[in-house]
Amino acid sequence: MENLIHDLEALSQLQDFDNKISKIKEIISSAPAKIEAKNQELSQKREEIAAIKKDFVDSSSSIKEQEAQLAQKEQAVGKYNAELNSVKTNAAYSALIEQINKAKADISVIEDKILGLLDGVEAKSAAVKKAENDLKDFENKIKTDISNIEDEVKQGQDSVSDIEKTRQEHKDKISKLVLDQYERIREGNGGAGLSYVENGCSCSVCGTVLRPQLLNQIKKNTSLVFCDGCSSILFFKS
Ligand SMILES: [Zn+2]
Repeated sequence: MENLIHDLEALSQLQDFDNKISKIKEIISSAPAKIEAKNQELSQKREEIAAIKKDFVDSSSSIKEQEAQLAQKEQAVGKYNAELNSVKTNAAYSALIEQINKAKADISVIEDKILGLLDGVEAKSAAVKKAENDLKDFENKIKTDISNIEDEVKQGQDSVSDIEKTRQEHKDKISKLVLDQYERIREGNGGAGLSYVENGCSCSVCGTVLRPQLLNQIKKNTSLVFCDGCSSILFFKS
């Protein structure tokens, strides 16, 4: 009886080590996905900023196009004006005047367009500058985040080695029979081998309310008692 209590108390400590190891291993195994998510965030930010830059470049190109059209129209007006001096008929004169007026009307429309685009392009240029600064900050943030995740993994690996070493030493305090049962149940249960009686009547792992007969057996401490719900070894934690 004394031996069993001693075994279960030691097992309780062993499970604490195992839980710590599992928790750290979970952190380690989830790290690549976390890093991947951080890199995705960065790609997304870069795409957003590329779109802002493209918008600015497109507007600048539009201005250049409109300016080229403006130059063409102004050249045409100059040409028509020169031709006015050499026309022979009234009809030809009127036709030229009409073309000049039309070209001037087009020039006015193009000038308005250019003014509108210039207004917009200034704001877009400022947006590009802001976006580039934001990106620098964001890149630094992601870099720090990833480095923190990597540090956590490194620390986790060191801790796991330390805890595993202590666990190994601690394991020798427990009888092989109890230890084997615990390992087997823990494996099947996905993490819990030993369970505590909570509120005097239920299993701490699965919540099953324990039969009075089981509770009596646990109190007697003459043999291992298992939970009906999750098969964990039951133990009254002192
Ligand atoms: Zn249970």
